[in-house]
Amino acid sequence: MSFLEQFKRLNLDDLSMRLYSTTADDVKRALNHPQGSIDSLMALLSPAAKPYIEQMAQQAYQLTRQRFGANIGLYLPLYLSNLCANECDYCGFSMSNKLKRKTLSDNELLAEMKIIKQRGFDSILLVSGEHETKVGIDYFKHVLPIVKQAFSYVAIEVQPLTQPEYQELVELGLDAVMVYQETYQPHTYSKHHTRGKKKDFAYRLETPDRVAAAGVDKIGLGVLLGLDDWRLDAFVMGHHLAYLQKQYWRTRYSISLPRLRPCTGGVSPKVELTDEGLVQMICAFRLFNAQLEISLSTRETPEFRDNLLPLGVTNISAGSSTEPGGYQNPHTQLDQFEISDDRSVEQVIEKMQIKGLNPVWKDWERAWH
Ligand code: SF4
Repeated sequence: MSFLEQFKRLNLDDLSMRLYSTTADDVKRALNHPQGSIDSLMALLSPAAKPYIEQMAQQAYQLTRQRFGANIGLYLPLYLSNLCANECDYCGFSMSNKLKRKTLSDNELLAEMKIIKQRGFDSILLVSGEHETKVGIDYFKHVLPIVKQAFSYVAIEVQPLTQPEYQELVELGLDAVMVYQETYQPHTYSKHHTRGKKKDFAYRLETPDRVAAAGVDKIGLGVLLGLDDWRLDAFVMGHHLAYLQKQYWRTRYSISLPRLRPCTGGVSPKVELTDEGLVQMICAFRLFNAQLEISLSTRETPEFRDNLLPLGVTNISAGSSTEPGGYQNPHTQLDQFEISDDRSVEQVIEKMQIKGLNPVWKDWERAWH
């Protein structure tokens, strides 16, 4: 059974009604027993939890420090290609966008890797648009060994693959796969994904099952906050996470909470998530799951990122480029979305250290394959 079967049994209207009828007493009960309880997660994500955000933040801070110490993992995305055969109306890489398309050659890849390595990073996230014929499994099989020679931890954020394909990549050193559902609300999903294979909501939803079954060390889930009601999307992602942890307990999990950002030809948020809402969500997930890694990208502003860091975030990117070849040749207008925090990695680290946090460059390294 995959998560799809479980998802089909969830009644989203009913969940939404329960979320919005949560009371202050439900929230107080949740604050006493938040770990692992899906009912508590619902209460902590609900509007009724707003007056308790300060208390949630204190508990989240303590839990994060107990589990992760003062460490914050650093990673950098490396964009391999902006070719894409899908139409997602919120993304600069959408196939109909008039954008110069580019896939890195080996020499360009090596040049990007060199710059990232010189900045001190040892964990890397390889990103591409979803273009199976030109940037498919053969390309990934070619690129992964090259990247693995220089970085001990390699994650990918590319199109969903089959289980045997993930297995092949694990044998070549793949450590983590980020696969975001964007929204768990099928109606909204269809509205924003109008062409290409990504239209298939169910295939995407089952991807983390295939990734875990292939033996990948870490899986990243995520929703694009703003496409629809973020409270409901976050809550269903909590269900997804709970299912995966029970089913594939050897795997590590992370979540990403990107807010919709402006991009070429993109849409505006349907439901705006305020800074306060994002704090509530980070704290709710930390209280729900002390082991969970929570990643924060450069989509957020510098001040806000600095303030969020102690509350539950465990991994951040810094000094990112979201275009292929962007470290060597910045600002060529090939990017996926606009970045809000464009500070250098040194500036970000300085702020972290002022807050008593330690930058960690390395995630982990396998002792054997
Ligand atoms: S979100 Fe992904 S699949 Fe959709 S257009 Fe952008 S790169 Fe392509």
